[in-house]
Amino acid sequence: MVITKMRKRNIVFFVDALPYWVLEKNAAKEILSDFCEVRKMAPSIGYSINVHQELFSGRVPDAVGYLGERRIRKNPNRYGLYKLRSVSSELRKISPRLDRYLRPVWNYLLKSNTQFIPLDLIDWYDESIPYPLIQNDKALFFNNSGWDCAIADRTGLAGEDADNKAIQLAWSYLRHSNKDIFIALLNIDALGHTYGNPSNEVESASMNALKEYRSMVQSLDIRGELGSAYLLSDHGMSNVTRIIDLRMEYRIPGCGKRWICYYDSLYFKAWSDSSAMLDVIKDELRTLPGKILGSMERKRLGVTSRSFGDILFVLNEGNAFAPNFFGRGAAKAYHGYIDYGEMQYGVFVTNTGRGNIESITPMEAYQQMTSSFSG
Ligand SMILES: [Zn+2]
Repeated sequence: MVITKMRKRNIVFFVDALPYWVLEKNAAKEILSDFCEVRKMAPSIGYSINVHQELFSGRVPDAVGYLGERRIRKNPNRYGLYKLRSVSSELRKISPRLDRYLRPVWNYLLKSNTQFIPLDLIDWYDESIPYPLIQNDKALFFNNSGWDCAIADRTGLAGEDADNKAIQLAWSYLRHSNKDIFIALLNIDALGHTYGNPSNEVESASMNALKEYRSMVQSLDIRGELGSAYLLSDHGMSNVTRIIDLRMEYRIPGCGKRWICYYDSLYFKAWSDSSAMLDVIKDELRTLPGKILGSMERKRLGVTSRSFGDILFVLNEGNAFAPNFFGRGAAKAYHGYIDYGEMQYGVFVTNTGRGNIESITPMEAYQQMTSSFSG
């Protein structure tokens, strides 16, 4: 009789924005009772695209070359439609809402996604940042031939449909392949931004994700194929209590000439060759609920590059900029804060751990996962 050794398969089940508070519900504890390590994921700097890089390739923003979805260009390439640009910037100054309604027109004329950037400034920003879960970036551990990937972001669908398609795909890999499985869901992030945390919508979608994870792990276990299993997310979300209308680009003269800025929901970056100019901007920022990151902190967080701002400012938890250059109205909840409370924590659950030990960082999670795969 020949006994063939069954190949052990690893499974990584990633759920964008699955918050830790859900795991404290009794129903969740029951579903996850077989898993020996349940930890909080303490998100690092930036939004999902940066946290995904730390989780899946072990690279901080300095190493990947971006923090957020726009990079500053060294040499902006001027193109036409100058009049339209100043008209649109004036309009935005007076009525951000009206400018927002007209954005599809600007985008059509400029053949570009201008988000909500004053068009006078548009040339300064490079929008070619790759989205890690969609791109086939080989630095991410699952983008190689050993893994079957069921990634909702790659289905071309939105919300629940995208997640369901990814789950179906993962089940078919589980049954018909013998590779490791990486699955990524996206819907809970949108639910969190829309309904806030805690909310019934986030809770029920989270319970469904937990059940799928458990069923997949059990199914591998029954076949004798179970290797290391991980359920993880990148962050939770905190409700917004204060909206800040900044529009500093209109209040401090010289924007676009003597200084440049970019700000999204939580981060404000500014560049200038004049230190006096930077001081004027810093004085404005000091009146806001947030902090300018010092050089030690930038080093610790891996954001020392000048392309992330001569000034890099982040709002305190519960605050958000609107309008901002990212192009959306204020959401109900946000993630990406640096100093934060309980609601920002994501999750890290595994069958390979050493017990419940406080929180884990994305970089530590990357190291723990990848060393268990190669071991
Ligand atoms: Zn995320």
